[in-house]
Amino acid sequence: TTRRAGARLRRLLRAAQAHRAHVHVDMESYRVKSATLAIFQTVMMEEEFRELSQVGIVIQCYLRDSGRDLASLRDWAARRGTPVWVRLVKGAYWDHETVLAASSGWPLPVYARKWETDANFERQTRFVLRNGRYLRCALGSHNLRSLAHGMATARFLGLPRSAVELQMLYGMADAEKQALVEMGQRMRIYMPFGELIPGMAYLVRRLLENTSNDSFLRAGFVEQVDPETLLANPEEAGRASGGETTRGGTAENGESAPMTKWTFVNEPLADFALAANREGMGRALAEVQAEIGAGYPLVIADRAIDTAERMEARNPGDVGQVLGYVALAEPQHVEWAVEAACAAQPAWAGLGAARRAEYLRRVAAILRERKFELAAWQILECGKGWREADADVCEAIDFCEYYAAGAIALAESQGVELPGEENRFVYVPRGVTAVIAPWNFPLAILTGMTVAALATGNTAVMKPAEQSSITAAKLMEVFQAAELPAGVVNYLPGRGETVGSRLVEHPRVAMIAFTGSRGVGLAIHRRAAEVSAGLPFVKRVIAEMGGKNAIIVDSDADLDEAVLGVVKSAFGYQGQKCSACSRAIVLEGVFEAFTTRLVEAARSLKIGPATDPGSSVGPVIDAESLARVRKYVEIGGREARKLLSVDAGELAGRGYYIGPQIFADVRPESALAQEEIFGPVLAVMRARDLDEAIRIANGTEYALTGGIFSRSPAHLDQACREMQVGNLYLNRAITGALVGRQPFGGYKMSGIGSKAGGPDYLLQFVLPKTITENTLRRGFAPPPSSGE
Ligand code: NAD
Repeated sequence: TTRRAGARLRRLLRAAQAHRAHVHVDMESYRVKSATLAIFQTVMMEEEFRELSQVGIVIQCYLRDSGRDLASLRDWAARRGTPVWVRLVKGAYWDHETVLAASSGWPLPVYARKWETDANFERQTRFVLRNGRYLRCALGSHNLRSLAHGMATARFLGLPRSAVELQMLYGMADAEKQALVEMGQRMRIYMPFGELIPGMAYLVRRLLENTSNDSFLRAGFVEQVDPETLLANPEEAGRASGGETTRGGTAENGESAPMTKWTFVNEPLADFALAANREGMGRALAEVQAEIGAGYPLVIADRAIDTAERMEARNPGDVGQVLGYVALAEPQHVEWAVEAACAAQPAWAGLGAARRAEYLRRVAAILRERKFELAAWQILECGKGWREADADVCEAIDFCEYYAAGAIALAESQGVELPGEENRFVYVPRGVTAVIAPWNFPLAILTGMTVAALATGNTAVMKPAEQSSITAAKLMEVFQAAELPAGVVNYLPGRGETVGSRLVEHPRVAMIAFTGSRGVGLAIHRRAAEVSAGLPFVKRVIAEMGGKNAIIVDSDADLDEAVLGVVKSAFGYQGQKCSACSRAIVLEGVFEAFTTRLVEAARSLKIGPATDPGSSVGPVIDAESLARVRKYVEIGGREARKLLSVDAGELAGRGYYIGPQIFADVRPESALAQEEIFGPVLAVMRARDLDEAIRIANGTEYALTGGIFSRSPAHLDQACREMQVGNLYLNRAITGALVGRQPFGGYKMSGIGSKAGGPDYLLQFVLPKTITENTLRRGFAPPPSSGE
């Protein structure tokens, strides 16, 4: 991204030089602030542009970093030698930043109160004016107090009028402009230019900003606030009104936690806009690279066991790189592992939910400490991008915390007490659980199923997917570091058809928690139902399976949002999420406009190794997967209209890369529209009206996730009623469910079981038991719970 944006900036600068124009680099959301500053500084330092003075950059004074950023910009400009313009603004994304921080559990990057921003604007104005040798001052505001403060400061410092440039929006506050220009003040008017729609969006944003409840223009012109108040020093006025200053984000005090029976706060995702996080992940990748080539034995009852045969784990983005050698369990190891789990189970159950929760919280704490390292392993072993890998570790942590708390709530005794009779309703563990996991959420799903079993007093044998066995070995290390008693969790990597199926059949395995493909899930379900001699129970199976998820794009949808949502859902992690969007069903009226923009957006995704944070599309998991994706691309080429087929170029020789593939006019009953492909392939279909769109959406055997982009409340309602999915998303991407907030799972052929990360998931791991006691003694009935 840096390279591509840098190249564009250079082109612009050259054109500006040729026309003697001024170039000012604007700021958008906080997420790209550091990158914007870095690109600006890199390019402006280059020989060709180093002496350019008609350039500038924006600093947003609602950001609490702004003072620090300005100080480093000043130091940089001093090294550069030629000053740059700094346009101070208050910032236009306050709502966005606030909501994002609260919902992600991040500290609030902006000031929470408007007066603090106003006061900071004045502080930073003084800073820029004092450093006039390096920074030239431009003030982008319509607030007369802020502008007057800048002009007065310049005069106080003995600077000429031209030391401050005022910048105002075309068509707004014309009387103010007039008055300032008549005073001889330098003024630059700016306006959107170019395409109509983005230009209008920009104007609307500014209008919203200027008419917000806290805005100067609104206070002055609409609310007729008196000039004394309007022009008061914001710092003094804010403090006088008893205004507190901004501390942490709202998430810090747990206020943004979802409402459940128990307290639970999602683990915040790493904010890679922060240099510390980028460096942290970079370091972890380097450290993990130094560990490659190691061996990973089985772990049974805390003992490491090597096997004669081992499998090689390779990096799917760089197939020449062998990451390690993983033991392959054989049938006798299944025997040992189940025996160890059986032996450990009574004592583990006997600890009680609260003590078990302590262990699981310790597991969460270790996962937190090793977050970047575990994410780095996924990047190498499974081709997950930085953000996705970090999110996977966070989800694993969430599962530990959520199920630990949930199991304690479950253990609280319930029942009905009457004089002479006491009824208790309790849950007891089922026994040994076989956990059979997929590779696509290598840590989260394996951890989730395992800790759900442990929290409720069961013990577990983990059978990870072949493709993610090293990440699973790291999880086993974490369980061991948390000092779980021997045998409570056992690590049994190996082939699905041998180890997996032996575990499913084992007479002492009471429960199977499976997540994976439909074919394997159904086979397990069938196999587990067979009753052989000596089987002491009917096995319980949870099977979370595949999907063929659709997003409907309504005729009045916000197409900008819809394009972003579909691209993210279809091509995030190369489409290898069970929740991924593989069908876009578009209403006729917007079909052309939507597909044109969709194709352009997908084309701009950068294909590259997952280790590179700039890559948007990494490799698919293995050769088999690549061949399957190619097969469907071929079918698409024959049966549908190809809209986009991005070739991976020379990367194809290095790993299992394939770019985004989009087909239009796909028949709803064709293989492309019915079968789970599990790769970056999107089928686009046309619908006459919403009824038809929903019919197509429901017309597969799966029911996992789905979504709709629409502005019509009636259409959103209809989708809620009629779309057959486990997780429905309105006007947003359909991937990225969070534990506790969006309990996850489907029905029809997408799964049997209640939702992972939801309030009733744990119930599947326990047996309910009712205990009734006659407390009538020799004709005397003690009052309930008096303990006689
Ligand atoms: P998969 O079905 O090939 O493998 C899943 C696990 O089953 C692996 O550990 C594998 O070794 C094991 N296995 C294979 N054959 C077996 C057998 N005969 N007996 C017992 N175990 C056996 O799936 P995958 O490729 O690892 O994962 C991708 C699939 O998982 C996709 O279909 C995806 O939709 C699904 N998935 C679903 C969810 C969900 O929550 N619904 C979440 C993630 C992935």
